[in-house]
Amino acid sequence: MIGKGKSPIDAYLGIDEILALALKRDVDAIHPGYGFLSENAEFAEKCEAAGITFIGPTAEMQRRLGDKVAARKVAMEAGVPVVPGTEEPVEHEEDALIFAKNYGYPIIIKAAAGGGGRGMRVANNRKELIEGLAAARSEAQASFGNPAVFLERYLENPKHIEVQVLGDSHGNLVHFFERDCSIQRRHQKVVEFAPSLCITPEMREELCSAALKIAGHVGYRNAGTVEFLLDQEGNFYFIEMNPRIQVEHTVTEMITGRNLVQTQILVAEGKPLSDPEINIPNQAAVKMWGYALQCRITTEDPANNFAPDFGILKAYRSSAGFGVRLDAGNAFTGAQITPHYDSLLVKVSAWGLTFDEAARIMHRSLQEFRIRGVKTNISFLENVVTHPVFLNGKCDTSFIEKHPELLQLREKKDRATKVLNFIGDVIVNGSPGIIKPLKSSELLEATVPDVDFTKSRPAAPATYSWRRG
Ligand code: ADP
Repeated sequence: MIGKGKSPIDAYLGIDEILALALKRDVDAIHPGYGFLSENAEFAEKCEAAGITFIGPTAEMQRRLGDKVAARKVAMEAGVPVVPGTEEPVEHEEDALIFAKNYGYPIIIKAAAGGGGRGMRVANNRKELIEGLAAARSEAQASFGNPAVFLERYLENPKHIEVQVLGDSHGNLVHFFERDCSIQRRHQKVVEFAPSLCITPEMREELCSAALKIAGHVGYRNAGTVEFLLDQEGNFYFIEMNPRIQVEHTVTEMITGRNLVQTQILVAEGKPLSDPEINIPNQAAVKMWGYALQCRITTEDPANNFAPDFGILKAYRSSAGFGVRLDAGNAFTGAQITPHYDSLLVKVSAWGLTFDEAARIMHRSLQEFRIRGVKTNISFLENVVTHPVFLNGKCDTSFIEKHPELLQLREKKDRATKVLNFIGDVIVNGSPGIIKPLKSSELLEATVPDVDFTKSRPAAPATYSWRRG
């Protein structure tokens, strides 16, 4: 156990405690997942100093890419277009107003160290810009421990398209095509799919090679994602690079048949991409087939402004079948969902030969889920994956905001739990006029099988069993 007696965030950020335990247990390598420590250069540095391999890019690469202002410089040096924005963080009103004069409104104020859609504000006029600047700086300080913010032109209704890349320690670098992550709420991804339905093969080629240029410019190693916005005229602009594996990597794994996390571990071991175990001798070896989408099932209640719910999971039954992949977190019957952690219960990914088929499999899968005891966003997700704009691949980042009908939720009938409650109630309390409750003298003694519980089950096929008869 890490972080006993600490607050949840301190426990997750308990770098020294994690390393002390890893050294005690003679650990060779640490995969940081995609949580708090996956983009923490200090953690990567301390792992290396302790002689433990950090499965990810070096601390220096993280520093060059983890900060959005620094990453924009890398993109510009690599000759990739960025959204018009300030070259340095902005501290003073005057600098913000000069930018507004040159580029006009709307403007987006972004935290240099931001992530997860937090710390961003859109300003439509001078007043919002001045007020937003001060508020964004203090928000950035509180959320990321760094007040630096910068400005960008706010693109109207863009699409968010990102490219998965992966490099080894020998200078080889490949991409795994793109994902469309335009379906967002408050700048946070909700449903992701691959490949994108709105780009031509030529645009795909251009985007993927731009992503490789940026990653190549810093000699990138391990898995990373280069994120772009695509405007309505079909121009793309780099926005940031995530130097880690991302939540939505599953859809890329499904369309390419490549296990990205395993590949991360193999390249961290020092294997080149051409190694038979990885088997990517060149870019042409990475192929894609079919379509995949991912939904994040969370305890967010769509009817209550997506506030995360918590409590005990009274029932948890998941879906399965052809083309369905589940990446479960702490979801099982009896699990306690606390308000202290991310509200994600399970990620469902669906694959099909066509986008329609993948979306249908996802819809079926969402319908088969039974999660009781806490509110979830499942009905909302069902509305998204059956929406005609979604099925036509036309969603941009304003989709959820522009379609309030997505919030018309089908109420779950929860019949199975109701029937179970009813049966239990009748058995214990009887049913007025029909079945009388049993008197205690009528209760039967439960028969307990005569078994020696101190004996463990033998490994060999049973001559011994706890079952009677
Ligand atoms: P984070 O690191 O918090 O995820 P990003 O820079 O990746 O932040 O942006 C997240 C989302 O915010 C984008 O997908 C997009 O919807 C929106 N966004 C960011 N920059 C712009 C911009 N310049 N114009 C319009 N939307 C933007």
